[in-house]
Amino acid sequence: MASLGKVFSQVENEEADGDKDNLSGRNFASGFTGVTAHPDPSVNSRQEFGDLRSPEKTKDVWKPKNHPKVHKPIMTSPLDSMPLIPWGNQYPLDGETLIMINTCAADCTIQILYFLYTYTHIGKTFINKKNDYLATCLLNVFNHMNNWRFDDARLVWVEKILKQPINDLLNLWSGERASGTKAVKDWMQIVTKTTKCSNDFCPNFEEQISIISPLNLFPTTPHLISQWFDEGIEQQCATCLSSQKTRFALPNAADVIVYTCNSRWGNKFHSTEEDLAQEQIINNKVYSVVAYTLYTGSHYYAVLWHQNKRYTYDDRSKPLLLQKRTQVSSDGISSVWLTLK
Ligand SMILES: [Zn+2]
Repeated sequence: MASLGKVFSQVENEEADGDKDNLSGRNFASGFTGVTAHPDPSVNSRQEFGDLRSPEKTKDVWKPKNHPKVHKPIMTSPLDSMPLIPWGNQYPLDGETLIMINTCAADCTIQILYFLYTYTHIGKTFINKKNDYLATCLLNVFNHMNNWRFDDARLVWVEKILKQPINDLLNLWSGERASGTKAVKDWMQIVTKTTKCSNDFCPNFEEQISIISPLNLFPTTPHLISQWFDEGIEQQCATCLSSQKTRFALPNAADVIVYTCNSRWGNKFHSTEEDLAQEQIINNKVYSVVAYTLYTGSHYYAVLWHQNKRYTYDDRSKPLLLQKRTQVSSDGISSVWLTLK
C-alpha cells in the first residue's frame, strides 16, 4: 500500500500548491477570522473590535472581487482518482512470499481494460454484454482495483484469466501478447479471413475461410491494419509457390478492437507514436484510439486517450500518477485499443 500513501501525499501537495494560487483571498479571510477568533455571536463582539467590518454590515467586502478564487482541491482530469496498478511486488501468499516481477505488460492491459470499463460507456457496455467467464473474471479484477487490492487484481489476471500457475516467483517477462492482450483474444474472434491461391491446379485455389482475431495479425505499424483490410495481403502459396491472396473483413462492426504490433526489429522500432492517428478506419468503419501501449525495448507503458487528452500510465513511475502527455516519444507502438465511433 506504499503507492496509496504516495498518491495521498501528492494530493496534499497539490492542495498546498492551490493555497499559493489563492494567497490573496486566503490572506484576507485569515486576517478577518484570525483577529476575531470565532467570536460568540451572542456577545457584542463587533463593538469590541471597533470598526472591523463584518459580512453582515458591509457586504461589498465579500463580493467576488475580493475572493477571486474559491479554494478547491485541484482536479486536472476526471481520471485523477483512477486507481493505478503498480509494478511488481512482494506479496504474502499461503505463508510464502510471492514475488511478482516484470509485470508491466500485464499491468498495462489490466489498466486499459479498467479504464475502458470505468470511464467509457462503450467499454462498459461491451464488457457487460459479454456475460461469460472472462467478463466475470474481469469484473473481479476491477473490483480489486476499486479497493486498491492491486496484488489480488493481478493474481486473478494471471491465475484465472491467463491460466498460468502461481509459484513463489511470478515473472511475467513474456511480452504483451502473452501476458496482456492474449486475455481478450477470444472476444476478438471477429475477423473473416479468406485465402485463395491464384493457381487453379492448386488445392488452395478453393477459398479457405476462417474466423480469426485481430490479435492473430502481426502488423509492424497501425497503418498496415487498415491497409490489410482495404487491400488484403499478397503472399506466396505454401503449396505451389504461386501468388496467393488473403483478404480480411469485419462482417459486424465491433465496439472494441485491439491489435498488437510487432513494434521492434533489432534495435529499431517499426512505428512510433507519430504514426498513430487518433482515428483509424478499418473495413470502412471509423474507430477512435482510446488507448495504446508503447515499448521501450525492455518495458511497456500505456497511454490513455480520454476526452481529447492523452495521459501516460507507467506502472514504474514514482509517485504512481497519471501524467498528462504532451510529447510524442520514439518508443515503439505495441498494442492499439479502438472503440467504434
Ligand atoms: Zn497454391
